[in-house]
Amino acid sequence: MHSEVNGILAALFPRCCVLCGLAAGRWSLCAGCWADLPWIRTPCVRCGGPLAGTDAAPAGAADVCNHCAISWTAVDRAWSALVYEYPVDRLVTQAKFQARAECASVLGESLGIYLRRLRNLGSLAAPDWILPVPLHPSRLATRGFNQALEIAQPVSRCLRIPIRVSGCARVRNTVEQTALTGTARRRNLRGAFRVSAGLSGQHIAIVDDVLTTGSTVEALAAALREGGAASVQVWSVARTVRRER
Ligand SMILES: [Zn+2]
Ligand SMILES: [Zn+2]
Repeated sequence: MHSEVNGILAALFPRCCVLCGLAAGRWSLCAGCWADLPWIRTPCVRCGGPLAGTDAAPAGAADVCNHCAISWTAVDRAWSALVYEYPVDRLVTQAKFQARAECASVLGESLGIYLRRLRNLGSLAAPDWILPVPLHPSRLATRGFNQALEIAQPVSRCLRIPIRVSGCARVRNTVEQTALTGTARRRNLRGAFRVSAGLSGQHIAIVDDVLTTGSTVEALAAALREGGAASVQVWSVARTVRRER
C-alpha cells in the first residue's frame, strides 16, 4: 500500500535529479547519474575503501587496501558506498553546510542501496539498530540538523533496521576534525562521547557521512563497547582515498 501511494505521488510530482535536473521518478538522482557515481565495487575488508580504484580488482589481489592506515580496535568492520570525489564531495558539502535535504537524501539512498545489495549477497551482518554519529547539542543548535541522522533515515528505510538516537550523546564540543592531524584528532576526541543506556550484547552500526582517518567513529565505537555492545560496524557514505601519483 505504502509503495503504491509513493508510486502515485511520484507520478503526480516526479522529482528532478539533484545533479543534472532530468526526471528522476521517486529517487533523488536519474538512472544515468546513479550509474555514474564512484561506487566502491571491491571493498577493503578493514576500512571499506576501494581495493583498486572504483573498478573491479584483479583476481588474487590482497583484501586489505595498500593505503589503509586505519587500525581499528573497537570497530569490527567498515563499509563505504562511494569514493569521496566529484560529485560526492559536492553533495556532502551541500548537505552539511547548505542544509540541502535532497543532497542528504542522495547520500543516504546510495548508502542504503549499497548495503542492501551486500546483505542480499550475504556479505553484510545486519545490526540490531543504527546510530547516526551524534552532534554536540550546541553544534546541533547552530546547524539546525544532524547530517548523519538525515543520511541514516533512507538507510533505515532501505534495510528496515531501526534508528536509535537516545542513550548516546556527544558530551564535548570538539573542534572540526578536518583541520587536525592524527594525534591531535585523537586528543580532540578523548571523552567526546558518553553512553548512558546499557548495550549488553547489542550489534550496532554507526552511520556517518565521510570516513577519513576513522578517529571519530573509533572513539564512538569504544564508548559503545564500554557500554556492552557486542559488535560495532561503521557505515559511511564515502571513503577518502589517497591517490598515488
Ligand atoms: Zn541526473
Ligand atoms: Zn583499507
